[in-house]
Amino acid sequence: MSADTPHRYNQPLGGNDMPRFGGPATMMRLPTQSSAAGLDACFVGVPMDIGASNRAGTRHGPRAIRAESCMLRPFNMGTGAAPFDHMQVADIGDIAINTFNLKATADIITAAYDDILGHACVPLTLGGDHTLTYPILRAIAKRYGPVALIQVDAHADTSDAMFGEKIAHGTPFRRAFEEDLLINDKVFQIGLRGTGYSPSDYDWGRERGFTVVPAEQCWHKSLAPLMGDIRERIGDAPLYLTYDIDSLDPAFAPGTGTVEIGGLTTIQALEIVRGVKGLNLVGGDLVEVSPPYDSSGNTALIGANLLYEMLCSLPKAWS
Ligand code: MN
Ligand code: MN
Repeated sequence: MSADTPHRYNQPLGGNDMPRFGGPATMMRLPTQSSAAGLDACFVGVPMDIGASNRAGTRHGPRAIRAESCMLRPFNMGTGAAPFDHMQVADIGDIAINTFNLKATADIITAAYDDILGHACVPLTLGGDHTLTYPILRAIAKRYGPVALIQVDAHADTSDAMFGEKIAHGTPFRRAFEEDLLINDKVFQIGLRGTGYSPSDYDWGRERGFTVVPAEQCWHKSLAPLMGDIRERIGDAPLYLTYDIDSLDPAFAPGTGTVEIGGLTTIQALEIVRGVKGLNLVGGDLVEVSPPYDSSGNTALIGANLLYEMLCSLPKAWS
């Protein structure tokens, strides 16, 4: 399509029309709008860190991801995806959470996603600490029923409570299980590692049907075969993809709150996110980017790229 042909869908502002360090501070410098009306997919921020247990700072994640996303161009040279030729996409801004009240924040998030999903829009979320996935899944399950889940993370996030609190960034998938938001034998936790509270920490999920793929099983190899197996097992079930940036090795992504060594590479991250293409992906998030610990900006930049790759993996990106 030539530069003078009008586009049918929103386009990211190009790097030859405005310097990349200027222009709107939206995801990929896309247009913004106040609701998801008319959109096939949206980028949306949840600026929270009140569920984090160690280093804070993820409240600044969405803004940093948007800032670094200014580098992204519309076409995916690796996969051939042209998402902005096939979908209407915009940045709908941030959810107005209550930063003094985590439980109220969870309800605010669910209500906001009820609205997004009511427009038949696929939400791609810029986090924010990992607590946010639980209230999103409540809304997702209301619309689609229980979903398959791919969780890429250094941690299982299946604790029962943290300091007696049931809602926190270490508990979202325990709550999701208890509320029947998941198809348990289609839950895949990839990249788990580090020190634990007991040698059997990962068994809680396994005993409930989850498939746990510890980081050690990912070392030194392509994850494309794993994703092939996962695609087969998920089939046509609706799928939610939650990507915790701490799944990556801190050599790549140091800007996060609960760092673990021996993590995934950015190449493996691409294999995972590209590996969900062909599945019925109904939403995704990228969580735990903490800009105060991200002196180069590269953690946020990786996050921006992985969110773009999620967009490229949506069914509508290829129709
Ligand atoms: Mn997590
Ligand atoms: Mn984690």
